[in-house]
Amino acid sequence: MKEYDVVVVGSGSAMNVVEALIQENSKVKVAVIDKDEPGGICLTRGCIPSKILLYPAEVLRTVERASEFGISVDVRRVDFKAVMARMRRLIDADIDAIRRGLTRSENIDYYHAPAEFISPYTMKVDEKTIKGKMFLLGAGSRAVIPPIEGLDSAGYITSDNVVWLTERPESLAVVGAGYIAAEYGHFFASMGTKVTIIGRNPQFIADEEPEVSALAMRELGKRIRILTNHEVKKVRRKGGGTGKVLTARDRASGKTVEVQASEVLVAAGRGPTTDILHPEKAGIKTDEHGWFVVNDYLETSQPNVWALGDATGRQLFKHKANYDSQVVYLNAVRKRKVKADYHAVPRAIFTDPEIAAVGLREAEAVKKLGAGNVMVGFYRYEDTAKGEAMNVHDYFVKIIADKETSAILGAHVVGPHASVLIQEIVMAMYTHTRSASSIFEAMHIHPALSEVVERAAGSMVPLEHYHHMLKEYGLEAS
Ligand SMILES: Cc1cc2nc3c(=O)[nH]c(=O)nc-3n(C[C@H](O)[C@H](O)[C@H](O)COP(=O)(O)OP(=O)(O)OC[C@H]3O[C@@H](n4cnc5c(N)ncnc54)[C@H](O)[C@@H]3O)c2cc1C
Repeated sequence: MKEYDVVVVGSGSAMNVVEALIQENSKVKVAVIDKDEPGGICLTRGCIPSKILLYPAEVLRTVERASEFGISVDVRRVDFKAVMARMRRLIDADIDAIRRGLTRSENIDYYHAPAEFISPYTMKVDEKTIKGKMFLLGAGSRAVIPPIEGLDSAGYITSDNVVWLTERPESLAVVGAGYIAAEYGHFFASMGTKVTIIGRNPQFIADEEPEVSALAMRELGKRIRILTNHEVKKVRRKGGGTGKVLTARDRASGKTVEVQASEVLVAAGRGPTTDILHPEKAGIKTDEHGWFVVNDYLETSQPNVWALGDATGRQLFKHKANYDSQVVYLNAVRKRKVKADYHAVPRAIFTDPEIAAVGLREAEAVKKLGAGNVMVGFYRYEDTAKGEAMNVHDYFVKIIADKETSAILGAHVVGPHASVLIQEIVMAMYTHTRSASSIFEAMHIHPALSEVVERAAGSMVPLEHYHHMLKEYGLEAS
């Protein structure tokens, strides 16, 4: 039986800890196990391939708006094969480089196979039994497949295999209306596919503010059919062909609708991978869903077994997984006592319009402090010189703050470069006071989009006033 100083499950963010360990201790022996291609989900089938695909969609959307600025352009052809091939070329080069690093390292034994615990500190992988003094569980998450009648036999794709498509589907039905649906829906619609998104929740991209969701649905809805509050009940093949017919039930009226599509993309949320890992055999606790239970230091119920990233079920983002890897490194390797702090985990949806958020939503802030103690800073892109130059309408920055201390509790941005604009607010949330004053007291470049953030931070109003403003601008969610 082989014994290791450290056993790592998942070659995503957990690898940050391994790299630091090897730098410090040239004798350390590490087992790195991943059942899939090395590099983790972000690289192999998550953030990076999807964003490589979304950039050409962004270019196309910009070109399509050229006539608004007096420029006449004809888009003659979109070469879907070339768009996909470029993504594969970039991703495969990175995967190959990581694989080479893993196989050549003298410190690492790389197992390309599923691993499962058989007893505490002991795993079975690739027909071998291995032991470890320390375990780093960065086992990620996986697509949840809802139990829909006929789905398996009709066939479907998920975000895992969409990255292998070479032919553009004529039409696509997306089951789910969260961020993956919004991103891939936008991508395929830009490529020329007829897209229908079918979401169970009454709100499109349900994790976002209602007014952000309503605006995104209005804009995206110009190019994509979006059904909310509809549950897909059945999928069947159309005639003998490859087309599919989905039957969805309106959860309010009970009426059913049929959606025809040449392909079905299931994007109905993410779940844990612990059913493969069997942590219960190693005395490692999971919650009722199967996510690892960790303490503030990211240690599981078994000493020296640490979990990080998606596997803990909290905020499933790559930057959060990377942050976790730093916390685990400090606590597991450096023997420090550093608590994971998630008060300002940002997120972005790279759809059109782009959306970004950090911290609390308005309803959460009201629940925490009471409506009278919450202030909102709001500013529209079009009310700045740059927004006017870009001819954008209705997009905005919303900052939620504590009335008494001015501390920022959360922020929401919808419009071009939202994922960049939010960062200034995240930085303010990492200052000692978390106050919005650090934003509006600082000089901002004129005329740049950052002025939208500056002015939102400098124009805090009570909630009632904010909702009045939203109504006046026609931006209130119905
Ligand atoms: C379509 C899509 C788009 C995304 N876009 C973004 C984005 O734009 N920005 C962002 O921040 N996040 C995004 N994410 C989320 C991001 O990919 C994850 O948060 C991130 O990959 C989590 O990293 P991790 O280190 O926790 O685990 P991962 O990198 O997910 O690695 C886990 C690895 O462990 C392997 N594994 C699991 N169990 C076992 C086992 N028993 N034996 C062997 N191997 C096992 C898995 O196969 C996987 O390769 C996206 C995700 C998806 C699906």
